[in-house]
Amino acid sequence: MITRRKAVASTCAALLPGVVLHPGRAYGQEAAVKAIATFSILADFVRNVGGDRVDVAALVGPNGNAHVYAPSPSDARKVAGAKVVFVNGLGFEGWLDRLVKASASTAPVIVATKGIKPIERGGDHDQGHEPEPEHDHGRADPHAWQSVANAKIYVANIRDALASLDPAGKAVYEASADTYLAKLDALDREVRDVIARIPADRRRVITSHNAFGYFQSAYGIEFTAPQGVSTESEASAKDVAAIITQIRRDKAAAVFLENVTDPRLMRQIASETGAKVGGVLYSDALTDRSGDAPTYIALIRHNLKQLAAALIS
Ligand SMILES: [Zn+2]
Repeated sequence: MITRRKAVASTCAALLPGVVLHPGRAYGQEAAVKAIATFSILADFVRNVGGDRVDVAALVGPNGNAHVYAPSPSDARKVAGAKVVFVNGLGFEGWLDRLVKASASTAPVIVATKGIKPIERGGDHDQGHEPEPEHDHGRADPHAWQSVANAKIYVANIRDALASLDPAGKAVYEASADTYLAKLDALDREVRDVIARIPADRRRVITSHNAFGYFQSAYGIEFTAPQGVSTESEASAKDVAAIITQIRRDKAAAVFLENVTDPRLMRQIASETGAKVGGVLYSDALTDRSGDAPTYIALIRHNLKQLAAALIS
């Protein structure tokens, strides 16, 4: 979350990426596979499949923004020590190739979205992400994990990659993946059940940072991000006026804003449009352990709860 970056600097110190507790492994016992995942959501998938056999560290940790990430020399060392590097692909990690080169790593780079049908970025799809040409490698929308069906493809790709790198663990990876895939099936049903309870004419919301194209196409909630609103700064009066115009035009039922932190602005938007002001939707990163979304499943549930609270009256 871009807007949470400042607050994050302090909370991240408590949960350094790469420090992972393995209660199931005896003290001093090495993991079979040292893995790197480029961001926290992907690391969670790897952890669920790899269990105790895999030590996974995320390069972009909780609450971090992978779009604008600047890798450090310690990241190059981490990559150099890894047996496998898991990436999202679809242009999400524009900084990765240079990092892998700098690390002189020969580890395989596994694209976890392989086999997912990409959707195109809409005109306003990437609103709120800094316009860095470097990370924009194409027209594909990288946020594929926002559909739970796609998350299952990530998990299958991770399972197959780990089994081929560490054949002795194949049965373990397959069993863990089966367990986790069943949880994702249940999660997908849960999302569909909740959204079925939202009246069709209320399935329309405004976000400032629109990373929910796959969620929209899988579950039928329409997300719009107004032009001119950046998550980098406080919304200006002009931004707020644009949001209000758009809410009226689109008859959006709720507004999820990350950058309008001033409660007076929220009240103004709500009272001028009749739209509800929802909470924060998490898109590109997990929270730390003490937050609302320390795992992928918790992230989807959190977002679902926010949507239901705002849209089911
Ligand atoms: Zn994003």
